[in-house]
Amino acid sequence: MNLFGTQNADVLVVGGGHAGCEAALASARLGLSTLLVTGNLDRIAVMSCNPAIGGVGKGHLVKEIDALGGAMARVADATGIHFRTLNSSRGPAVRATRCQSDMHRYHRAMSDVVYGQANLRLRQDDVVSLTWEDNRVTGVMTGQGEWLQAQKVILTTGTFLGGKLVIGQDKKPGGRAGEAPSQGLSTSLQALGLRLERLKTGTCPRLDVRTIDVAALEEQRPEEPAPQFSFESVAPPLPQISCRITHTNAQTHAIIAAAVEKGLAPLFNGTIEGAGPRYCPSLEDKVIRFAQKESHQVFLEPHGLDSHEIYPMGLSTSLPPQIQLAFLRTIRGLEEVEVTRWGYAVEYDYVDPTQLSPTLETKAVSGLYCAGQINGTTGYEEAAAQGLLAGLNAANAVLQQEPLILGRHEAYLGVLVDDLVTVGTQEPYRMFTSRAEHRLVLREDNVYRRLSHIGHRVGLLSNDRYGAMTDFEKQVDDEMNRLQKTVCKVNASRQDLLAAKKSQPLKAGTTLAQLLKRPELNERDLFDIESADPLVANAAQPLSPLAQKVRYRAAVEVKYEGYVARAHKMIEKEKNLEDAVLPPSLFERQLPGMSNEVFEKLSAIQPRTLAQASRISGMTAAALSLLAVELRRQQAESQAV
Ligand code: FAD
Repeated sequence: MNLFGTQNADVLVVGGGHAGCEAALASARLGLSTLLVTGNLDRIAVMSCNPAIGGVGKGHLVKEIDALGGAMARVADATGIHFRTLNSSRGPAVRATRCQSDMHRYHRAMSDVVYGQANLRLRQDDVVSLTWEDNRVTGVMTGQGEWLQAQKVILTTGTFLGGKLVIGQDKKPGGRAGEAPSQGLSTSLQALGLRLERLKTGTCPRLDVRTIDVAALEEQRPEEPAPQFSFESVAPPLPQISCRITHTNAQTHAIIAAAVEKGLAPLFNGTIEGAGPRYCPSLEDKVIRFAQKESHQVFLEPHGLDSHEIYPMGLSTSLPPQIQLAFLRTIRGLEEVEVTRWGYAVEYDYVDPTQLSPTLETKAVSGLYCAGQINGTTGYEEAAAQGLLAGLNAANAVLQQEPLILGRHEAYLGVLVDDLVTVGTQEPYRMFTSRAEHRLVLREDNVYRRLSHIGHRVGLLSNDRYGAMTDFEKQVDDEMNRLQKTVCKVNASRQDLLAAKKSQPLKAGTTLAQLLKRPELNERDLFDIESADPLVANAAQPLSPLAQKVRYRAAVEVKYEGYVARAHKMIEKEKNLEDAVLPPSLFERQLPGMSNEVFEKLSAIQPRTLAQASRISGMTAAALSLLAVELRRQQAESQAV
């Protein structure tokens, strides 16, 4: 049955989560007729787990989405209720923005963005299978029996593919608490020759704030002024509230250890088969694996301004409900706590991402793209960033434009996609700054210089926004110039300030840039030192938020210019490998001297460049040079023709 004639959309997106929203928005904003089909239209961009956006590595991704013209950063700023800069006392590469979100407002605000987007239609239905012809996708079949046809299909099904929810002994089908799993699509994907694997993730119980002794707990106040994600955001529009901190203790751990011992923990008794995230373990995992640790920190994070529910970050668990309640009540402030929702784990199918090309299109099926948790990642930010890329590339393919492939030196999104398609993942993949070898040049503060020209070129960043970002970067250049040229003369107040910072006194006039290079001084100290001069202090005006951003950004560039220059040299060195594009014909036959194992990996992954080939696990220097020689031979041959 087809209710709409032959073609329903240029691009059809399956799933209205974080990946699906950015994918659909990107495609529609490029002018393509786009259809978003999702299981429940009341659950668009729902936060399945913690009510928070950003964090180390993740905040970087959110800012990249903003610089490329996506929506997440602006929605997060509009609905954040507690903003902080993580790692603020560490180097700028690892400083990251994070906010507690009002999760209900986040979902509504993103729904408004999606419904307000021209060229984008929405449909509530379950997609049960794909349709295709000669390894080219042609559309999807829905649970209502509709055949929705499209040139490109983007799958963003999250934890729903063959999903099973686990609490204690109870294991039942489900995509997320209270929602049915996606049945059928996995079979379609397998019929198309795609390999699926299984992963697991878990979440915390939710607590009724009225039963928590909030006053007994340490307060974590939001940062002032609040850091923001999006370029234009100045201050959060919503009231900012505090979170609370508490800790597990020996009694908590004893209850959990006893439950594991009795075989009541699905994670240890064989009920859960999929691999979970090692870096974000459940509480029972932490208690058993780190038995020497006597206590774990727990952040009590509100679901929103109008909500009675609290998310206890750090207490992810799939233990039976009575054990959850028992261990919770051993924790300070939670002695009389009532649970509103039990913690649980979800097991689901994901597509081994080494079957995707860096555009996020599957290699086996033309026109079929995957983004988000379906690719083995975890996290709203990782999902949204992939969604934007998949939406953009699907649209570009319809428009017969060049695809966008970001390098590892250009963006965390480049690192994320390259890791997935080159190495794959055996556990839910989340972004960390340590995954980026060029993290010194992939900072949050320089994101607009790195990416806004790309966002503008591909048509997602408006002229106005791009103009404002370019203007900002010009102001940064001017400020860097000023820092290099402005000389601080010796005076008593400056010497006092320097002494207070345990910094050497000035012997003669010194430029601001030279002062900034002193390891013990940061950009805030610098401006105090600069103002410690009656002439400067009298002329000083309060700085606008934009001017403060310019100062911070310029100071970071100047302070770390030596390190950044070295990082750029390294990138330049690797350029030869990055520029050596490998034609697919190179993997058609095994080169003499190449091992079977390397040949199998090369033909499965089909690396786009020599650099990507070098990152495939098990790749040898000998195999790389065979490839390089063969590439040169083929290039010489084609030039000779
Ligand atoms: P989702 O946000 O899950 O969206 C998928 C969407 O697709 C849903 O709207 C669904 O209705 C729709 N859909 C699925 N199948 C179909 C179909 N066949 N037809 C139509 N629509 C369909 N992230 C973290 O960062 N840290 C954590 O600790 C963490 N723990 C989690 C624990 C649990 C129990 C769950 C469920 C998620 C957890 N997450 C965690 C993951 C986080 O929720 C996801 O990473 C993120 O939401 C993925 O975004 P997505 O867009 O890929 O998928």
